[in-house]
Amino acid sequence: MLKKENIIVLLSGGMDSAVLLWLSKTMFKDVYAISYSYGQKHSIELEYAKELSKIAGVKEHFIVEVPHLKQLKGNALTDENLEIPSENYPDEPPITTVPMRNLIFLSIAASFADVYEIENIGIGIHSLDSPYPDCRAEFASSAEAVINASSVMVAKKKNRIKIFTPFLGMGKTDIAKLGRELGVPFEKTYSCYKGTVPPCGECATCRQREDALREAFSDTTA
Ligand SMILES: [Zn+2]
Repeated sequence: MLKKENIIVLLSGGMDSAVLLWLSKTMFKDVYAISYSYGQKHSIELEYAKELSKIAGVKEHFIVEVPHLKQLKGNALTDENLEIPSENYPDEPPITTVPMRNLIFLSIAASFADVYEIENIGIGIHSLDSPYPDCRAEFASSAEAVINASSVMVAKKKNRIKIFTPFLGMGKTDIAKLGRELGVPFEKTYSCYKGTVPPCGECATCRQREDALREAFSDTTA
């Protein structure tokens, strides 16, 4: 890419979106970030997202309240009565699935893209067979189609909006290795679903993160 286009990156504060932010800095002209407060138990990650945005020097970091997700019962990220499981993901959509979360997040990011004339929306979804339906390739391409069909910018024939998903088909270790090359400050990222300080080390994201970072940095001497 010739650094002619702009991007808005969905930034959770976790390692995948941080690597995506750093990668975007090498590929796009203006880089914006957007983070969501949706009643997640691990809202501590928002503080990490703010710090990452500062370090990366983004053009603007939007923080958006999405209050209705808190009303949903049945998923362990926003339902206070459900515990975050201390185990790895099963094959089917896990209890930590927040229904339509990425569709909502992308459509809100698309509102900003339309107004600020940003041609790309970055989302750090990875691995084609994710247990989360809204982290799959089919979801991303369908979302791109509907966003373009709704866009004022596109209707005025200015630009098309692309969903930038460079990590689709990549494993978490490869993302960590890329982040290492790009100089991502992993100590400023946070992924734990339980929201504890320090991270619990037991939930699925903690396990995946630790494995990926261990493998990516395995050749460095302590
Ligand atoms: Zn954890």
